[in-house]
Amino acid sequence: MSHDVVVIGGGPAGSTAAALLAREGARVLVLEQARFPRFHIGESLLPCDLPVFARLGLDLGGLPFLRKQGAEIHDEARGDRSVFSFADGLPGTPDHAYQVERGPFDHLLLRLAADAGAEVHEEEKVTDVDLERARVTTDRGSYDARFVLDATGQQALLARRLRTLEPTRQFGRAAVFCHFEGVSDEVWQTDVLPAGNIKILMQEDGWAWCIPLVGQRLSVGFVRARGRVSEATLDEGLAASPLTRRLTAGARRGPTHLIGDFSYRNTRPAGPRWACIGDAACFIDPMFSTGVSLGMLNAMHAADVLAPALREGREADPDLMTSVAARMERPYRTFTALVHRFYNTRMVRNLFFASETEEVLRRGFISVIAGDVWREDNPFQRALLAPARARG
Ligand SMILES: Cc1cc2nc3c(=O)[nH]c(=O)nc-3n(C[C@H](O)[C@H](O)[C@H](O)COP(=O)(O)OP(=O)(O)OC[C@H]3O[C@@H](n4cnc5c(N)ncnc54)[C@H](O)[C@@H]3O)c2cc1C
Repeated sequence: MSHDVVVIGGGPAGSTAAALLAREGARVLVLEQARFPRFHIGESLLPCDLPVFARLGLDLGGLPFLRKQGAEIHDEARGDRSVFSFADGLPGTPDHAYQVERGPFDHLLLRLAADAGAEVHEEEKVTDVDLERARVTTDRGSYDARFVLDATGQQALLARRLRTLEPTRQFGRAAVFCHFEGVSDEVWQTDVLPAGNIKILMQEDGWAWCIPLVGQRLSVGFVRARGRVSEATLDEGLAASPLTRRLTAGARRGPTHLIGDFSYRNTRPAGPRWACIGDAACFIDPMFSTGVSLGMLNAMHAADVLAPALREGREADPDLMTSVAARMERPYRTFTALVHRFYNTRMVRNLFFASETEEVLRRGFISVIAGDVWREDNPFQRALLAPARARG
């Protein structure tokens, strides 16, 4: 047996799992098809992943990433603006997060996995997985392992192979986005630096994001709930939004990227000697910036279950990952309920701009959008999940 664990994909989920497992003495191989650093979308993190960074021994505050205090919501058509600071959440909710450029961020995590002792092969694409034998085949060779972790992101290698990918209807359908460089000093000082917030813009058929990145750059994207997007959608979105036009005035626009059909659930995220983590297990919708943070938490929980199982020879237990799936159920259900209400009702929009939301509900909402969703004392989260529970 060449390795204890083969991790397919070196994004945040794969690298986190690889680093934590390697530190526990497991022989880990990471197979990543790209050469890092590479571009990736998903730049706004949540406070809930601070414990993962602590476990990894990473202080993002000391690195070239931007501190984020919360989210700013705009409805330009109505002239509404609302600010949610994580510090105003329920007691115990961490008060900040980070905005990260994914190229260097993912590279940092992959190097961390290598430093922890994982063997990392970049530019090696997995082409097949024999789940019975936990054998992984790539465009360069084959590897036998005691356990396989699928961390292939939206490519969701195993879910597509097993046909267990269930699209989530009525959520965001497609997005178009780009980076702007050379944001003006005035915008940077007055609109960005004070809080480093993500700006979310409510729009007729979806929403848009403006995420500040270190070096006076902005990531700007438009998500559409129906139909397709094209480069023209970006032009139209910018033309229709005085705020994004002002923020990006005089800045250089980089290449345009498109992505579609990104909301889904993998109905079978684990089996005997294999599990899917991160986006390969579930991706809800980017509305609340949950992807990276939930993916890293999912990876940490999976590593915490797998490391002792490998030591004790229990890795083939078909129920090994049941507790991990159960732990992720709470954020998946919470954010699915929130995103559903955003696209299909006025509840979230009303909450964004309500002048007199009951204090405890507002604090509860902020804790949820910070990803602090495992607590039992949040009345907002209870109310959000109650109808789903009643429906069974
Ligand atoms: C429009 C949009 C906006 C988003 N905005 C945010 C945001 O603001 N904040 C946030 O937290 N998240 C956001 N996300 C989500 C975020 O991008 C993902 O949740 C996150 O990248 C998941 O991490 P991961 O490690 O699971 O997968 P990835 O980061 O996708 O990493 C998977 C890796 O696997 C590799 N791989 C795939 N297939 C193979 C193969 N066959 N062989 C070898 N390697 C392979 C890939 O090259 C990749 O490097 C957004 C997503 C979308 C679509």
